Amino acid sequence: MPAPVIQLDHVSKRYPNGFLALENVSLTLHTGEIHALLGENGAGKSTLMNILYGVHEPTEGGVLMEGREVIHRRPADAIANGIGMVHQHFKLVMPFTVTENLALVAKGARRSAFRRHADARAFMERYGVDLDPAAVVGQLPLALQQRVEILKALVNESRVLLLDEPSTILTPAEIDNLYLTLRHIRDQGTAVAVVTHNVDEVLAHADRYTVLKRGRANGTGLIADTHSAQLVELIVGHAVSNAARIGGERTAGAERMSLSGVSLRPSSGSPGLHQIDLTLCSGEVVGVAGVEGNGQTELFDLLAGQRQPDSGSLKRSSQDVSVALVPQDRHHQGLSLDLSVSQNLLYTRIMGGEYRRAGLLDHRAIGEQAKVMIEASDIRTYSHATPARSLSGGNQQKIVVARAMNQAASVVVVYQPTRGLDVAAAEAVLTRLAQAADSGTCVVIISSNIEELIRVSDRILVVNGGRITGEVKGAAMSVTAIGPLMTLGRQPHSISLEPVDA
Ligand code: ADP
Repeated sequence: MPAPVIQLDHVSKRYPNGFLALENVSLTLHTGEIHALLGENGAGKSTLMNILYGVHEPTEGGVLMEGREVIHRRPADAIANGIGMVHQHFKLVMPFTVTENLALVAKGARRSAFRRHADARAFMERYGVDLDPAAVVGQLPLALQQRVEILKALVNESRVLLLDEPSTILTPAEIDNLYLTLRHIRDQGTAVAVVTHNVDEVLAHADRYTVLKRGRANGTGLIADTHSAQLVELIVGHAVSNAARIGGERTAGAERMSLSGVSLRPSSGSPGLHQIDLTLCSGEVVGVAGVEGNGQTELFDLLAGQRQPDSGSLKRSSQDVSVALVPQDRHHQGLSLDLSVSQNLLYTRIMGGEYRRAGLLDHRAIGEQAKVMIEASDIRTYSHATPARSLSGGNQQKIVVARAMNQAASVVVVYQPTRGLDVAAAEAVLTRLAQAADSGTCVVIISSNIEELIRVSDRILVVNGGRITGEVKGAAMSVTAIGPLMTLGRQPHSISLEPVDA
């Protein structure tokens, strides 16, 4: 095996609030490998990456590069030592071109290597990336913006590339393309470490893996020597059956909302909606399956009351039918990251005028109610008063779901509720949704994860090109029945690395 380029040597990390996020973890990254770092939300993956990148210093243990101890007090130290990192949230200058974004991060003499578009193009070719250097970054699709972030991390001749959950925002086809690029980078002699939850992705694309569990290394090895069930077991600690139904037997009750002949005009980037007929009743889970971009966001906006139909009608069965939402983008629409966990949990009710005493917020009552919700939804947080920002993605999503459930709404509409979550957190979120339907709420789940829809839904509508192409119920809900309805008349879109017109 090639030489280790970087090593974590018996590293522990205790945060200032006393939380032990890593305990005695050793990890070796080799030149020319793609190393997957797996683990549940909160397992310590980001903490580990941030130690390698100099965002945090280890409390105990050290970091070695080519066998020699290095101290990274800040990211600039790590960058100087040839480490690049791609964060989940991009740090791009959107109005600038690809070349300008690369030039901005180049250090010292490297800067002259990004003066012209041709320079940037030559640099990108080394990594097999075919992107228009003159394209304005803000006009590129997300998957290509991510490519620019990756290139930025390589600009200063990095020997180690760290990526924190790069696949969360990507479609399956885009994930394949991402790894095509990562393989090029690996073959240039860079050690690539990728944090992900997705076991299938790791089996398909990584060379080695390390699993973290509650801050400890729980297994490491070659991908060639492992299989799916073993990895899942290392991650969650017990084998989970993917086939099990979530929630009880339900019979749909009274009508809550209905759409008849609803259409929205297509526009750039949207197929619109065409003649949608749909009745939603109490006590049922209605799944909406489809390849992303086939009218799901439009349907969500309509049900949410955020858009009105261009034609057709949308009716609520009575005045007191209310709708609670779990939006797709939890960072921008779902949470206020700087507010505390408790204020996020009770946000809608606080905004609705509850929890006030003598004109001020009643923080004690908010805290008490939040504690009950934290317990019920298994939200792993140090305290109800910590900012939502400090929680892992899975626990942030549990907050958004718990809040929607706490509104006592008759209809709950959720968009991709488990995207980016690990197995256990996804299970917790789906179970919470199923419980709501069991007790009479109408739950609409829009998701591109068919297996999960089959497990939790009473019926599944399939959308394609802004139309409902079919509905399957009960025992007829299967991947073989739904798959063709999703792709009917149109193949799932895949990204291309062709330059986008700027
Ligand atoms: P992962 O990336 O595997 O989801 P993280 O490394 O983000 O996990 O977090 C590990 C644990 O450390 C979590 O329980 C998280 O709440 C906690 N944590 C992360 N950052 C901080 C911080 N700055 N202060 C206190 N606790 C933190």
